[in-house]
Amino acid sequence: MDYSGRQQRLREALRSSRLDSLLVTHLPNIRYLCGFTGSAGTLLITPASSIFFTDGRYTDQAREQVQGARIVIKRKLPLAAVVQQFARSQRESRSIRLGIEGQHMTVEARGALSALLPHHVRLREAPPLVERARMIKDAEEIALIGEAVGVGAGLYDHALAAIGPGIREVEVAAKMEYAARTSGAEGMSFETIIASGPRSALPHGRASSTPIEPGGFVVCDFGVILHGYCSDRTRTVYVGAATAEARRVYDAVLESQLAAIDAVGPGVAVGKVDRAARRVLEKKGLARYFTHSTGHGVGLEIHEAPRLAQGQQEILRPGMVVTIEPGVYLPGKWGVRIEDMVVVTERGCEVLSPTQKEFMAV
Ligand code: ZN
Ligand code: ZN
Repeated sequence: MDYSGRQQRLREALRSSRLDSLLVTHLPNIRYLCGFTGSAGTLLITPASSIFFTDGRYTDQAREQVQGARIVIKRKLPLAAVVQQFARSQRESRSIRLGIEGQHMTVEARGALSALLPHHVRLREAPPLVERARMIKDAEEIALIGEAVGVGAGLYDHALAAIGPGIREVEVAAKMEYAARTSGAEGMSFETIIASGPRSALPHGRASSTPIEPGGFVVCDFGVILHGYCSDRTRTVYVGAATAEARRVYDAVLESQLAAIDAVGPGVAVGKVDRAARRVLEKKGLARYFTHSTGHGVGLEIHEAPRLAQGQQEILRPGMVVTIEPGVYLPGKWGVRIEDMVVVTERGCEVLSPTQKEFMAV
């Protein structure tokens, strides 16, 4: 990974945001900028240097992984160490603007930090500069995401083999998760959703101990983490003999998903993709049952920028990786969602690891 290039581009972004330095505390951002995958660390980016702080548990790991930054191992409070280092490197009397990641720092940590800082250093909440950079994936990242999506896609076969009347939702999830780990995944990218019958009308119905019954849909939403990158996919299957209404709603969601994928391309506003999905459901009188946004970025985190939703201004650019996942949820009855990940290309988009998504009953 091009860690030094990422840090250099961040320095340029800091300058245009009128910040002198940035204290990076969000672990996925730290990983993105210097490669560290542990659970405790802070990265200080100044105009002239990058310094990574962690504690003794990570001495070896930091030396192995961290690139483009000097490593400082401290036993005491990392923030205090950062401040010491910062104060030492900035002896000038002019005031210095130190950016923090407001979305990822607790009020307590911010208070502690400002209490420790010398007077001429001012804390400023930085715009989400690293998140913005992370929206555009480079070729190496796209290849890794593609691998994660491939492993994730294979899990649905295990779900289909298991789903049937009487099996509990958690058992289906367990079989998928076992297969994920044995296929090399580091973990699941979120709690596997297996939602059957009326529970399928809950957009985020985690697998429960409910036995699956015939006469309804099962929504399976699942993903793995591989080499740090997440996958995210949803398939929905009917159990038993489907009603005409079930077929009609399923086909409407599929048509909506395909229309949204069709709308994805460079230069397209994310809101336009959301509208393309919604328009199909409006025509079928189902739009009011589509209660969430159409998609989200995926990368080192399962939900990242951009959001594909009404009112969002972001413009799609080549290298963005987003989900397209419209759904229809009939309260008390059942729900349907179909989700794929796509990468925006120079000419349109490409669905990652496309698999069967026509109506299916077991
Ligand atoms: Zn999902
Ligand atoms: Zn998703």
